[in-house]
Amino acid sequence: MGTTMRAAVFEETGGPEKLVYREIDRPEPGRGEVLVRVRACGINGFDLLARGGRYKTGQAKPHILGGDVVGSVDSYGPGCEEKVGVGENVALHWVISCGRCEQCLRGFETTCLRYGYLGAKYPGGYAEYVVVPERNIFPLGDYPDLNVAAAFPMAFGTAWHMLVERAALRPGETVLVQAVGSGIGVAAIQIANLIGAHVIGTAGSDWKLEKAVGMGVDPSKLINYNERDIYDEVMKMTNKRGVDVVFEHIGGENFGKVVQSVTRNGRLVTCGGTASYDVSMNIAHVFHKQVSIIGSNSATRWEFEQISRLLLEGKFEPVVDRVFPLQEAAAAHEYLDGRSGFGKVILSVGD
Ligand SMILES: [Zn+2]
Repeated sequence: MGTTMRAAVFEETGGPEKLVYREIDRPEPGRGEVLVRVRACGINGFDLLARGGRYKTGQAKPHILGGDVVGSVDSYGPGCEEKVGVGENVALHWVISCGRCEQCLRGFETTCLRYGYLGAKYPGGYAEYVVVPERNIFPLGDYPDLNVAAAFPMAFGTAWHMLVERAALRPGETVLVQAVGSGIGVAAIQIANLIGAHVIGTAGSDWKLEKAVGMGVDPSKLINYNERDIYDEVMKMTNKRGVDVVFEHIGGENFGKVVQSVTRNGRLVTCGGTASYDVSMNIAHVFHKQVSIIGSNSATRWEFEQISRLLLEGKFEPVVDRVFPLQEAAAAHEYLDGRSGFGKVILSVGD
C-alpha cells in the first residue's frame, strides 16, 4: 500500500545493462509467509542465463533474481509459528515446493511437480525485501559475516544433495571434483573433506588449482583441463583404477572423458551443464563397468537444516570472490560473465 523498496530488476531480457536499480512495490507477507529484510544475495550462473533469456521463469515483470539469500526477519503474515524472532538473521531455502503432489508425498520435494525457485518463479533477493513461506527460513545465529553466509545456501546445498544423498559418497572413496574454483566446486571439496573422501580436482587455470591446495587438496591430485587430458591424468593418479564418484556440473566436451574416468560400479552425479547441456560419451564406458549416471536437483529442507547447522559449527567456510553493492548488480553480472574468479560473487544489500 504505497510502501516501496529498492531492487535490481529487469523488464526485458538481454545483457547485464538490462538490470536496473530502482524503486518498486514492497511485497507483503501472506498467510504462512514471512517478510525478510535482505542483507546479502549470492549471484548464480542461473541468474545470468535467466537475464539473458535462456530460461522462461514464469515470474511477472519486473523480474527480481536471486535465490541465494540471507537477511533478517522483518515481520510475519497471519498463521505463522514465529519460531525465529523478528530481527534475527536467517538463510533462505530456495526451493518452494507444494507439499501435496506425488513427488512431495514421496519425500522428493526437489522434484515437486509444481516447485518454483526463489529468484526464478518467485521474486528473489536482488531487493531490500523478499517474501518466502515461513518453513523456508533457517536461523543463522550470530554468524559473523552475512556476505560470506550468502555464498553458502545454493552451493553447499546443491553439492550436499549430490554427494551425500544422491551419490552416497563414503569415507576413503575418491571423488573427481570438476571446476574447483566455482562456488559449488568449493563446496564439494569441503563436503568431501568432511566425509573423509579423497579429492581429485580440475580447473581451467593453475592459480585456481593452487587455491584448492589451500583447502586441503593434495597438490599432486590437480588437473588443468586446458593443458592435460582429464582421463589420462585420473588414470595416472589412481593406478589405472579410476574414481569412485565424479562430481559433474560442467557438461560440454569433457563429459565423455569424466565418464570414462569412473571406476567399476562407480557413479557420476550431475546437477548441470555450465559449458553445455549437449554431451557425448561412449556408452560402452557406462555399461561395461556398470557405471551409474545420477541426476541431482537442489536440496531438501531437511538437508538445508543439516548443512546450516554444520555452517554454524564452523565445519564449512564459504568462499567469496568479490562483493558488489546491490546498486551495482549490472556490473556484478558483467564481472561474472568473464568467469575469472574463485568462489562466489555477492550482492550486499545495505541500509
Ligand atoms: Zn509438490
